[in-house]
Amino acid sequence: MVQVPRGTRDFTPEEMVKRQYLEQAMTATFSSFGYQQIQTPSFEHVELFTAKSGDAIINELYAFTDKGGRQLALRPELTAPVIRCYIERLQMEPKPLKVFYFGNCYRYDRPQKGRYREFQQAGCEIIGAGTPEAAAELLALAYSLLQNAGLQTIHLNIGNLTLVKSLFKKLRLVHDDQKTLLPFIDKGQFEDLKVALRDCGVSEQETTTCLQLLQTPDLSDIREFLRGDTEAEKELSVMETILELLQNAFAVKDYSLKLSIVRGLDYYTGMVFEIDAPVLGAEKQLCGGGFYELIPLLGGTAVPTAGFAVGFDRTILALEAEHFVFPASRLDVYVVPVNPEMVPQAIQIVQQLRSTGLSVDFDVLQRGIGKSLKYAAAKQAHTVVIVGPKELENNSVTLRDMDTGAQQTMAISALQTMLDKK
Ligand code: AMP
Repeated sequence: MVQVPRGTRDFTPEEMVKRQYLEQAMTATFSSFGYQQIQTPSFEHVELFTAKSGDAIINELYAFTDKGGRQLALRPELTAPVIRCYIERLQMEPKPLKVFYFGNCYRYDRPQKGRYREFQQAGCEIIGAGTPEAAAELLALAYSLLQNAGLQTIHLNIGNLTLVKSLFKKLRLVHDDQKTLLPFIDKGQFEDLKVALRDCGVSEQETTTCLQLLQTPDLSDIREFLRGDTEAEKELSVMETILELLQNAFAVKDYSLKLSIVRGLDYYTGMVFEIDAPVLGAEKQLCGGGFYELIPLLGGTAVPTAGFAVGFDRTILALEAEHFVFPASRLDVYVVPVNPEMVPQAIQIVQQLRSTGLSVDFDVLQRGIGKSLKYAAAKQAHTVVIVGPKELENNSVTLRDMDTGAQQTMAISALQTMLDKK
């Protein structure tokens, strides 16, 4: 038997109800923040991703050569495709341009719970606004997206790459050293970081200070250490404004400053952030993003850019782990013709009800009332409409409330009004 490929999943109708719910909830939040939806292809030229992430990314890609000899790859993320699309088609749009997306991504990862080879991301980019208010709004959007979807416990951690680079500069660390240190910082492996800092020639005392600053929740500690570095001082004021707006204007109070959120050295600039759902354990990172520079690298005219991506599948897992009650997808009405002669009349009623926006199905197997009621119960129908000859003579049908089992005869003309009230 052929099975689903490793790291991919089928979604049954029951699972799709949850996914549809989440997509709708997220779309509503993105729209409420003035973002518009965008869609790009599932595959791109491989250089798009190597330009952004370097050649090392090739090991993670589903890359292939097509019949025309083109080097292509299934997209591992959507920021580079969206920026490519912006450069090709949207550079003349009024700024800031705010776009959001949902899309499947593909990575040749080692599959485990919450980590798949095909997964979905929801995300957004804001192009042409580098102000603290744009940054604070982006943080508030990421937070609201998950909160409005129904998540109870999430942690927003905010870092800043400019400040981390200033810290490195003060410790006289060259670019190659920084690259070695970054993965330890990113993974919070501070013991390994200590050893690596020593290997880079950083003194014991400076190492202690560095570790403290990477974990301090207080901007003033960082200001103290970086005093005299004008770039860092400017960035510290920007961060202060961002956090002030986030807390007091956007009313997002539940966040932590964490310089150890570093994401990527070459690509991100300034503020970066992540949101975790602790309920998920190992693969708990739901969202990551920040300010980045990609437009010039891909041949466009530089403007400030920021964005984030949310792991859609992990958000579903987190909602399930928190026992979130997803809205049920129920059939509104199931119509049962009691004999073959009733079928045309039953279909007319079905079509009339469908035209009003109700979800309606009917017995196409002529199974009789008993089996039809069982089927309707399995499909969680609200109401069953039984179309029988005696009632039909009086332009009536029988209505059965599937929650209570109560039945009543009703004129077909009154059916609509009755069902609308339910
Ligand atoms: P990234 O583009 O790596 O920053 O990922 C953004 C978000 O996508 C992460 O925070 C995860 O929630 C999610 N994600 C990344 N890789 C995977 C994967 N292999 N399977 C499921 N979700 C993923």
